[in-house]
Amino acid sequence: MDPKVLETMLPYFLEKFGNAASRSHVYGWTAEEAVDIAREQVAELIGAHATEIVFTSGATEAINLAIKGAFEHYSEKGNHIITCVTEHRAVLDSCAWVEQNGGNVTYLPVAQNGLIDLEKLERAITKDTILISILYANNETGVLQPVADVSNIAKKHDILFFTDATQAAGKIPVNVNDDGIDMLAMSAHKLYGPKGTGALYVRKKNPKVTVSSQIHGGGHEKNMRSGTLNVPGIVGFGKACELSMQHMDAESRFLKQLRDQLEAEILLISGTHVNGCVEKRLPHISNISFQNVNGDQLLLELGTDVAISRGSACSSVTSKPSHVLSAMDIPDALALSSFRISLGRFTAPADIEFSANFFKEIVAKHRTAMHISTVNI
Ligand code: PLP
Repeated sequence: MDPKVLETMLPYFLEKFGNAASRSHVYGWTAEEAVDIAREQVAELIGAHATEIVFTSGATEAINLAIKGAFEHYSEKGNHIITCVTEHRAVLDSCAWVEQNGGNVTYLPVAQNGLIDLEKLERAITKDTILISILYANNETGVLQPVADVSNIAKKHDILFFTDATQAAGKIPVNVNDDGIDMLAMSAHKLYGPKGTGALYVRKKNPKVTVSSQIHGGGHEKNMRSGTLNVPGIVGFGKACELSMQHMDAESRFLKQLRDQLEAEILLISGTHVNGCVEKRLPHISNISFQNVNGDQLLLELGTDVAISRGSACSSVTSKPSHVLSAMDIPDALALSSFRISLGRFTAPADIEFSANFFKEIVAKHRTAMHISTVNI
């Protein structure tokens, strides 16, 4: 988390402890005012209006609300949803719930570069299609889907377009109007805010979108998500969005430069390969396959200096190949020795040099242990 975010949050744990839904005293008003400011900050990051932001406990909840909520609300219009095989589990599992509850879901394949095929998307549309859910940027490869094109297709057929922008928001410009997005999920901890806070953007005009609540209770968040608001978390989320807006340009250029440098160094190791469309990627993520390396063993030897993962945080401990890489036709053995390497606001050039050497050494050690040639390293 950005220390400036923490600083902004701290008063809301103690001296400004009010409940934002308490309308009868000044403590409640103070908290409500802080939430209102945060709502503006979050909305501004994605070009939305504050009244279109529904605060949630994170992107997983926002995704559940978007998919299940749209499925329930628009059930009279149809019961078909289109998504893609490389989505985050939160989307795939919400879609599985839809199928268990009488809906139909089409899972679009991706090409080897991780991109969907827009013609296949259009062909998958039926008279029952109510929602297209395509992620903005993949969390394992950073690959950016053509969201504006997806949105045009959705509009042409009068279908709602939802995007999981958890990885993209705050890192690259995301604008719900330019991109024609009807619903968008995001999460504070991906942009240097606290964990356990997120939001669903729900378009209010052209068209007005509604979702059925998935958490019932006191009717908070315009009846779309009940439950006392996490005021410190939301305040931190707002601040994190404000900082992202201020830093985005310079930060993304800086991170891309460092990421490309690190990638170039790692690619000097023989049998390495970058996964996903390199031209259409987030600036701070790289997914690299290391041939002839035991991925389990390498992860065990990471120590405390370098932190990388195989797949997303929820599945990185399993020894199953990533569903994202498998969908991109990467064989299981190679997927298991492929890692997501990501950089962030606090990565320094010295970290790149350190990490490049780290990878060269650890891969050489592994291959020697496996009696595999390490020429070129
Ligand atoms: N979607 C994507 C693309 C993600 O990367 C993540 C988190 O890793 C999520 C959804 C889930 O977000 P949260 O942990 O806030 O529920």
